[in-house]
Amino acid sequence: MTNEIKHTMKTFDVAIVGGGPAGSSCAAFCALAGLRTLVLERERFPREKVCGDCLNPSCWPVLKRLGLTQRVWDLPHSKLTSVEFIAIDGHKVIVDLPTAEHCELSIKRSLFDDLLLKRACDLGVHVTEETTVTTLAHDGDWKIETGVHETLCARALVGADGRNSTVARLRNLLPRPARERVALQAHIPLPRNFGKRIVLQFLREGYSGQAPVNETELNLCLVGTPPTISRLRQWAQQNFEIAVDQPWRTITPLTRAPVPCPRENFLFIGDAARVVEPFTGEGIYYALRSGELAAGAIAKIISGKDRQFTLREFARASAEMYRGRLWINRLARAAVLSPRIGSLFVRAARINPSILKLLTAKIVSPKL
Ligand SMILES: Cc1cc2nc3c(=O)[nH]c(=O)nc-3n(C[C@H](O)[C@H](O)[C@H](O)COP(=O)(O)OP(=O)(O)OC[C@H]3O[C@@H](n4cnc5c(N)ncnc54)[C@H](O)[C@@H]3O)c2cc1C
Repeated sequence: MTNEIKHTMKTFDVAIVGGGPAGSSCAAFCALAGLRTLVLERERFPREKVCGDCLNPSCWPVLKRLGLTQRVWDLPHSKLTSVEFIAIDGHKVIVDLPTAEHCELSIKRSLFDDLLLKRACDLGVHVTEETTVTTLAHDGDWKIETGVHETLCARALVGADGRNSTVARLRNLLPRPARERVALQAHIPLPRNFGKRIVLQFLREGYSGQAPVNETELNLCLVGTPPTISRLRQWAQQNFEIAVDQPWRTITPLTRAPVPCPRENFLFIGDAARVVEPFTGEGIYYALRSGELAAGAIAKIISGKDRQFTLREFARASAEMYRGRLWINRLARAAVLSPRIGSLFVRAARINPSILKLLTAKIVSPKL
């Protein structure tokens, strides 16, 4: 994956900072629109990422437009058939997931993100890995300096660098985190007879998400506050086969306000634009789809369409993508910030499961 940039001051139509699902999707759609596209990625792929590794069924239409449906199926994965909600006292409610063509898969992010970035590369995108953006300046075009004292130039800039976006920070746009929580994640040996389910388990100290990612490994996520996270880790050590020296990936914050709307030739996508509650497992879809929307807007701007109109259109399409879903996000956040209330909800759902079934159906229902 090294269409390396050999010359300084090379000019691109669009520079995308971050090569996760948002950045790769945006880059691939930009390349398909004929734009000279650059991706600057801090890590070397393949790399893991703190995530539940679950692909919401909404991802399939975007993956199809990227020409990746079969290649995603070809990756080692688990086809998930149900979600099991477990209350603090152990009471459970099981909700079935769609099993048809648009089903829920879990795939390690090292494999999924690598496939997406490779697709962008195959479509002609210049990808530079292990590259950190250090300075951004705007004088009509964007001048981007990287850690290796290279200056790159692009007509449009996209921040796709995740929830702690450097691009937003360098432009003084990064909102303060609303409430500090921390997530830990690891791949551990798959417990025998775990099945093909996602487990969302409320615990006194926070919550845990679990899903098999292949025939031998379980994705285990723990979400708590800084004072409770070590107790959550102890809970995990007691309940799963975890090596003493098990490495855990970690990320914070899990909540912050969205960054302000786009201006100039400058857009944010994926987690850099808006961080959604991990509990609902929709972040990868928003990343892929916002990347596609941004590519459409940039192609129009570069071809000479009215910039302000196009940016307003992009903002409207982004809002449409979240329409009718953010209240579920707020509900999920309330439940996980107060696991006792979340547990009461699960217990109530044992008597009448229709609400939980409805919410789950809404989360996994097909989108564009
Ligand atoms: C605990 C947890 C569980 C989750 N579970 C799920 C789930 O099961 N399903 C789901 O759909 N979503 C889930 N999510 C959300 C999902 O992980 C994100 O929404 C998704 O990764 C967003 O993609 P992205 O491309 O916007 O950002 P990222 O995936 O974060 O990618 C950003 C990329 O930018 C790079 N980068 C960062 N800074 C720089 C820089 N300065 N210069 C260059 N590159 C940079 C990073 O290396 C990274 O590769 C979960 C999140 C958490 C925290």
